Amino acid sequence: MASKSHPVKTSKTVLKRFLDLEQPKEYCQVEYIWIDGTGEGIRSKGRTLDFVPKEAKECPIWNYDGSSTWQSDGCNSDLYLYPRALFKDPFRGGNNKLVMCDVYKHNKEPVESNKRNNCADVMEKAKDLAPWFGIEQEYSLLDFDGYPLGWPKQGFPGPQGPYYCGVGSDKVYGRDVVEAHYRACLYAGITISGINAEVMPSQWEFQVGPCEGIKMGDELWVARYILLRVAEEFDVRVTFDPKPIPGNWNGAGAHCNYSTKPMREDGGLTEIEKAIDKLSLKQKEHIRAYDPKNGQDNARRLLGSHETSSIDQFSAGVANRGASIRIPRQVAEDKKGYLEDRRPASNCDPYSVTEIVVRTTVLE
Ligand code: ADP
Ligand code: MN
Ligand code: MN
Ligand code: MN
Ligand code: MN
Repeated sequence: MASKSHPVKTSKTVLKRFLDLEQPKEYCQVEYIWIDGTGEGIRSKGRTLDFVPKEAKECPIWNYDGSSTWQSDGCNSDLYLYPRALFKDPFRGGNNKLVMCDVYKHNKEPVESNKRNNCADVMEKAKDLAPWFGIEQEYSLLDFDGYPLGWPKQGFPGPQGPYYCGVGSDKVYGRDVVEAHYRACLYAGITISGINAEVMPSQWEFQVGPCEGIKMGDELWVARYILLRVAEEFDVRVTFDPKPIPGNWNGAGAHCNYSTKPMREDGGLTEIEKAIDKLSLKQKEHIRAYDPKNGQDNARRLLGSHETSSIDQFSAGVANRGASIRIPRQVAEDKKGYLEDRRPASNCDPYSVTEIVVRTTVLE
């Protein structure tokens, strides 16, 4: 478990005096966001623009020191940030923006941790099929000492059962963070479709989608960024680890709900079944793409228990939460809709997940 570190106490009242100062109309603050060399860590830095951008591509290409993010050597450290998706900034408000970027080397080749570049190519090839995604992002809130928020400091809370979608201060911990994040995402322009408390106490979920193509990855990364920033305000930590507490406690996933236009049309269930057949032949490849450590993180989570399937065996079923792929009951009844891939870990890169789902099901 992470080492102890007490939150640094500053004054929100004093901060507000400065944030309330009038901001010059012709200037705008833009926070550039990117993924670091771990493939799961998020970094950001801010700059002032003398205009208000309406699209990401109006924001200038920028750079940073990749040797400080495990992405390049000190002797050739500069990496490029290419702005890709623009959102309103729920922290600074006004005309200020967040911009999701991807990262390129000095020779304009994508860095190894840039999974967006390839994902964008695949989504472009599949665009006539209008692939939609909805990702259920599970995560856990931790106290400053690294223990789950609200858990007794010595020992454990009562066994799982009363906490999923729970209500009441003995059932859920950290709802302030969840509510603030939900509203901040809506303000920013994220397609956040819902939230719920999860099976393990102090574990929560938010859903982003349906989003078409490359937007899924862009929006989920920015929603994660917003969650980390909101949690800073409450002196709470967030972990996206897929099995934060070993043993009889549910892990955390990022179920990927997926459909193409033919799947959403009448009789689309046959298209869904065809996609499942293709997915069944590529279990190993998908597991490698579903966490940032080629399956090692998911090995702690996909144990075939606690609402997960086995990491080695592909399975599919209607309403089956112990399967790799679940066909929601309603979809089976309507004979059209979408499938749910339950395998991606909570710390997955959604660019890698959506890329391989589309490549396997419709491009190969
Ligand atoms: P669960 O029952 O597994 O907990 P949730 O309600 O948490 O499901 O999440 C379902 C997700 O599926 C939402 O993000 C929603 O936007 C997404 N979704 C709904 N319809 C489609 C579709 N046709 N294609 C892709 N995603 C979809
Ligand atoms: Mn500097
Ligand atoms: Mn869900
Ligand atoms: Mn869930
Ligand atoms: Mn689900």
